Amino acid sequence: MKFSQYPIQTHRENPANARSAGAALLVRAGYMSHGGEILPLGELAIQRIQKLASDPSFISHLGLALFSGENEIYYPVEIGSTELLHCPTCGFASRFELAPVKKTVFSTEAPAVLEKVLTPDCPTIESLAVFLGLPQEKTAKALMFVRRSDEKFIFVVVRGDLTLSEAKLAAFVGEIRLAAEAEIRTVGAVPGYASPIGVKNALIVVDDLIPQSPNLVAGANEAGYHLKNVNCGRDYQPDLVADLTLAVAGDSCANCGAALEASKGWVLASGGRFDFEKILMALAETYHDEKGLTFPASATPFDVYLMQVPGKTMDTREPAENLYDQLTAAGLSVFFDDRDERAGVKFNDADLIGCPIRVTVGERGLQSGMVELKKRTSPENQPVALAEIAAKIKELF
Ligand SMILES: [Zn+2]
Repeated sequence: MKFSQYPIQTHRENPANARSAGAALLVRAGYMSHGGEILPLGELAIQRIQKLASDPSFISHLGLALFSGENEIYYPVEIGSTELLHCPTCGFASRFELAPVKKTVFSTEAPAVLEKVLTPDCPTIESLAVFLGLPQEKTAKALMFVRRSDEKFIFVVVRGDLTLSEAKLAAFVGEIRLAAEAEIRTVGAVPGYASPIGVKNALIVVDDLIPQSPNLVAGANEAGYHLKNVNCGRDYQPDLVADLTLAVAGDSCANCGAALEASKGWVLASGGRFDFEKILMALAETYHDEKGLTFPASATPFDVYLMQVPGKTMDTREPAENLYDQLTAAGLSVFFDDRDERAGVKFNDADLIGCPIRVTVGERGLQSGMVELKKRTSPENQPVALAEIAAKIKELF
C-alpha cells in the first residue's frame, strides 16, 4: 500500500482528551479518530489480529499482561470500565459483581428455641443489631424481588453483615425487579420485619452461608417484632441455596484464600468471543515508547515501513518503487511512504505508526547498492544489500 493512495493523517501533538498513553498514540498515529472511532489504518490492524484468532489461544501469545477469568479474559488498565477482583497469588480474576469468595462461618452453635422479641423502630439491620446488642452477622437480611418473566415473587436471605449481588441472583433466577409493598404483603411478609417464615407463593433463595449460620435474628412478619434463633431448614425451607453475596477487595480468594485486590480493566474476550477493538487498544497500552507504537510483528497492519529519502544527485524514487514491488512479491505487507516530504517527517511517522521494520532507500546507500534496515525496537541502522533485503527481513519474522 502506498501513502499517496492511502493517506494516513498523523498528528504531532497528543490529543487533549486522551485518556491514556496508548489511546493518545492510536489517535496520533492515525488508527483512531479524536472521537474514538476506528479509522482505516486501525481496521487494517484489526483485520490482522482477526486472522490470528483462527487459533483461539492467540491472545495469550500477544505478550499482554492479562487476567483470566472463568469465561472471560481481561486486560487490567486504569481507564477500564469493568470493575474486577483479582487474586495476586493464584491469578484468579472475575468481574467484581460475580466474584466468588471463600466465606467465613462465624458460629457452629446448636439450634436454639425460637423466641419472638419486641424490636420497635428497628427497620434496618444496623438499627436491629444495635438494639439487640448483636453483631450484624447474627442477623438475616431479607430482600424481596419479582422475576420479570413470570412475576414470581423471589424472597432472598443473606446474612446481615453481607451485601446481596443482584448480578449473582439474576444469574440464578433471571431478570428481577424490586418487589412493591403491596406485593410483599400479598405473600404474607411485612416490609421492614420480613422473613421467609410462613410466606406463601414465593421462591425462597438463600445465600450458601445461611444454612451454615445457626440462630439468626430474622423478621417476625409482624410490625415491630423479630424472631431470635431462626434456623434455615428447620423454620423454613429454601428452594435454592447459592452464592449470592457481593465480594469486596480484601475478601479471600475462592481458589487459594489470598486477599483479592480490586482493579479495573477491559473485557477482551467473553464466552469465546473476542473484542478486537479492545485488543488493539490493549496492544497500544502495552507496546509503545515515547516516539510511537511498537506493535509486535504478529499484530501490526504492515510488516515493513518503506520510505525513500529524495536524493540530490540521483533519483531514489524509482529504486524504492522497485523495492516495494520486490518486497510485496516476496509476500511481505509493505506500507510505502512515497510522499514528497522531508526525511524527518517520514522518520517520525514511521516511529508513530510502529511497523516492526523500517527500510530506508537513500542516495548514499544506493551508490553502493545498499539500503538501511532498522527494527522499530532497536536503535541500530543496518546497511543491507538491495539484493538481500527481502530475505533479511523474512529472517526477522
Ligand atoms: Zn487465589
